[in-house]
Amino acid sequence: MSSSTAKIQEQDNQYIHPWDNMHQLGRNTRTVVDRGEGVYVHDSNGNRLIDGPGGMWCVNIGHGREEMARAIYDQIMQLAYTSPWSLTTGPAAQFSQALAAEAPGDLNHVFFTTGGSTAVDSALRFVQFYNNYRGKREKKHIIARDKGYHGSTYLSASVSGKERDKNLLDFADHLVHHIPAPHPLLKPAAMSDSEFLDQCVADLENKILEIGAEKVAVFVAEPILASGGVIVPPEGYHKRCLEVCRKYDVLYLSDEVVTSFGRLGYVFASEDVFGIVPDIITTAKGLTSAYIPMGAVLISDRLLKQFDLPENGAAVFSNGFTYSGHPVAAVAGLKNLEIMKREKLCEHVRDVGPYLQEQLQTLRDIAIVSDVRGIGLMGCVECQLTQDGEDLAMDYEIGNRSDKHCQSMGLIVRPLINMCVLSPPLVITRDQIDQMVAILRKGVEMAMQECIDDGIWKP
Ligand code: PLP
Repeated sequence: MSSSTAKIQEQDNQYIHPWDNMHQLGRNTRTVVDRGEGVYVHDSNGNRLIDGPGGMWCVNIGHGREEMARAIYDQIMQLAYTSPWSLTTGPAAQFSQALAAEAPGDLNHVFFTTGGSTAVDSALRFVQFYNNYRGKREKKHIIARDKGYHGSTYLSASVSGKERDKNLLDFADHLVHHIPAPHPLLKPAAMSDSEFLDQCVADLENKILEIGAEKVAVFVAEPILASGGVIVPPEGYHKRCLEVCRKYDVLYLSDEVVTSFGRLGYVFASEDVFGIVPDIITTAKGLTSAYIPMGAVLISDRLLKQFDLPENGAAVFSNGFTYSGHPVAAVAGLKNLEIMKREKLCEHVRDVGPYLQEQLQTLRDIAIVSDVRGIGLMGCVECQLTQDGEDLAMDYEIGNRSDKHCQSMGLIVRPLINMCVLSPPLVITRDQIDQMVAILRKGVEMAMQECIDDGIWKP
């Protein structure tokens, strides 16, 4: 290990990372990543690694794009910042128009934020504001799903439904209700697919009725539950849920922080993949391919028309950020979209996505693999050491061991506990998919063999 790597790791131990375990502070030895190009990053010891998670589902156009760097540089030299309150810039205005043009239906209004959490938080605050303005002050409750992830602000974390994250933090439980994830693995063996779909939709309707429709403001759903483990709902789920929402005057917020910007082969997945035009879409991550942080909320004309009631008084949406519509981020967003269009990255994902899924399915023959699922360029290989999957320590064990072996062979996985989740940069080729899946196979098999040798698991 070079001394500079050791030095960085030592300094890094002063820094609290997301989801850090405080017992572990000062004792971490994280891999230091210091450059990237295309689907690869290089660590500080000179190893080239395929970026399996695409950063965190976000480096969509790939690493090291010079034209992106130039566009960002040029904007900084021209104007790094101005206040979005009473002023504006060309890039922010143009990017909002470009997003509206890509968005489904009448989602023509864009509110810029600093990332995904602030997009979800702002969207939920907008829903509260909308109902307050309409005089429906009781209509506040939010329905979300188990295993959903929507962010790390108070409200966006409250709507998240990952049980294992509901630990020592507090949440807005008086406002938020969770229904089961539409996870095909939860379908009882005797139930047909269509019965399971009916049950998932009934979970939403029953929850609305239980709370009282007059009190339910919004249903928030990721099209694919991403960090919950790439959960692909049964076909028709989103359409049916939207119908239920319409029936009870409940808004539909589609959280596309992961699924937009090509991940599923379209700029937005809500309509093009799932056939729905929601009331609100939140996006971030691939919005700028992570070159500069940014998020956005897209809101429908239908909702904004409701503010044409001067008799209801002022309608000031007192919510926003110093960096809303940041011109440098907006330029990155415009350049990102330009690259995606010019290089036909959505078409490319529609071509290689099914190939990735096919290749991942071949891993089902590994004894420790309990499920393989995915869509587009999102995939998940779930490993299980216990019968009921209820032992967290065992789950971490298999995930960490697979991760270590994959990295030593040139692939970053960084599993979600026991789930190896892949969302590589969209520019990935078939050959690179083959390499990625081959390494994953070896890594999981080596981890499994170790567990057998250590007596933790028996085939
Ligand atoms: N929504 C979804 C679906 C996400 O996956 C994430 C992050 O992973 C967020 C919101 C929060 O985004 P951010 O981490 O940019 O705040």
